Amino acid sequence: MKAEIMGIGTELLMGELTDTNSSWIASRLPALGIELQWVSIIGDDLPRLTEAFKNGMKRSDIIFTTGGLGPTQDDLTREAIAAAFDETSVIQQEVVDKLERYFAARGTPMPQHNLKQANLIPSAKWVVNNNGTAPGWWAERDGKIIICMPGPPGENHSMWEEQVEPELAKLIEDEVTITRNIKTMGMSEGAVDEVISEFFGIENPYLGIYSKADGIHLRVIARAKDSQSAQAMIAPVEQAIHERLGEYVWGYDDETPEQSAGKSLTEKGLTLAVMEMCTGGSLTNAITNVSNSSSYLKGGIVAFDGKALSASGVPTADLKQHGVVSQQTANVMAETVRRNLNADLGLAVTGVPGPGEFEGKPLGLAYIAVTNGEKTREMEMRLPPRQVTIKRRVPNQALIELRRLIEEIS
Ligand code: ATP
Repeated sequence: MKAEIMGIGTELLMGELTDTNSSWIASRLPALGIELQWVSIIGDDLPRLTEAFKNGMKRSDIIFTTGGLGPTQDDLTREAIAAAFDETSVIQQEVVDKLERYFAARGTPMPQHNLKQANLIPSAKWVVNNNGTAPGWWAERDGKIIICMPGPPGENHSMWEEQVEPELAKLIEDEVTITRNIKTMGMSEGAVDEVISEFFGIENPYLGIYSKADGIHLRVIARAKDSQSAQAMIAPVEQAIHERLGEYVWGYDDETPEQSAGKSLTEKGLTLAVMEMCTGGSLTNAITNVSNSSSYLKGGIVAFDGKALSASGVPTADLKQHGVVSQQTANVMAETVRRNLNADLGLAVTGVPGPGEFEGKPLGLAYIAVTNGEKTREMEMRLPPRQVTIKRRVPNQALIELRRLIEEIS
């Protein structure tokens, strides 16, 4: 099934608003087996919108739109579909009643302009919006479908999840698409590509490679008549990835480094203490993004220079001997915080905080240490010299090293 997405709104064309809805919807289509072929942005202009729908109906089986369903004069999505279908809209009393109740619950009368949100053409049916005034439209003509959703992402995403996706899944029930995402860290994209090169370029199962802040992801997508057959198509690819890249694999599907590390800590009943320099608390913040993190995290210390580190218990002699940014200091930080906070494991990162050099060392240099008091995993990182990159990538790598140490010691 070939699809396209239209982001509707002049704000989008003027660069005042970024079209996040289209990429959000796009990310949901492969799992449904829907092939996205076009994404376009169209302003609030009736002739151009009408033309876009006419062209879209020629080249796509299904069109998703977001935006332009509000009550104002420049919300023209419904009018453009009516024009493209050459149909006349009729106000639906039950939607007027619903809108009136919506406004009454907020203690204001319904503005007359909202009446247009109750308009429907004969070829369309409503899509319920549980989070706003604008109902969506599901229009069908000559075997082609147009699904219109509101612009605000909160309304759009919930409408998709509650109404649109379940209906689409019914339409495509003769085919199942299964996706497996395997996440690696430690090998470059080129090296990963080389090791499993024979699986690329095949349509089904399809193997994609993506470079992300938490490593190189490999996504296998298989389409088949049932889920068992789709799983069987994925299995040999997944097995080869494990055989050739096993030591670099740290997670699957939607798992994040903090979830993966949190799962290992919970399974083994271990506690954790953190000391971070150069990441501004983003490592501890990531750990606390996991809902049960308070059951294993004893605490996190954020220090930004040698004085703060020694005030947190790191011996001044070590700092003087090795410098703040060194592997030895990372090791001492990990062991110090582990002991001081009485945790099973200590995790530490130290690096050049930026914007420029520190101790004559370049921005981008960072060290990670994770220890249980007996065994320590160490890592030096040389990243692009951007503070934002360092704050994102050092915590991810540190969490993956943490998980690796837990695997080693258990
Ligand atoms: P409303 O009933 O709120 O008017 P609508 O369906 O008419 O909804 P628009 O008026 O086009 O939607 O946009 C409302 C708001 O939704 C925008 O100001 C913006 O914040 C958000 N929005 C619209 N389109 C997009 C998009 N493509 N990506 C992300 N956000 C969007």
